[in-house]
Amino acid sequence: MIDNRLHLIYDTQLHMVECMFCRIVSGEIPADIVYRSSSVIGFRDIHPQAPVHVLLVPTRHIPSIIDVNACDEALFTEIQKSVCKLSSELHLENGFRVVVNHGPDGGQTVSHLHFHLLGKRQMSWPPG
Ligand code: AMP
Ligand code: ZN
Repeated sequence: MIDNRLHLIYDTQLHMVECMFCRIVSGEIPADIVYRSSSVIGFRDIHPQAPVHVLLVPTRHIPSIIDVNACDEALFTEIQKSVCKLSSELHLENGFRVVVNHGPDGGQTVSHLHFHLLGKRQMSWPPG
């Protein structure tokens, strides 16, 4: 039991050292940060897919949308608040899209939960 717990603690720390978004959260890797609260940061995507393309990222390492647990129940409210604030600050009055990718079929390439906020162009449906 103790061994398992140690393994989990070790695993979490390893994730934080290796994870690109954890390194942005800690300031180790630079990013164009446009939003920050105690639980969420927002920074511009390095390969933007729209004139506005911001990633909203929990400051805590959570691998994916399916890993959000009861301890993180306030997270979605915090994400929604960040979307409201940014959509106003970045003048997305005409509309925008929020996207979460999960797993290989969903096209997730970074294993730290993030919400894409895309705007300032007409989006198409179905998505590619
Ligand atoms: P996803 O494919 O949904 O996992 O999205 C990952 C996103 O992270 C992609 O849109 C990448 O362009 C973006 N990305 C990867 N590394 C960085 C970085 N260092 N700074 C900003 N965005 C990044
Ligand atoms: Zn991380």
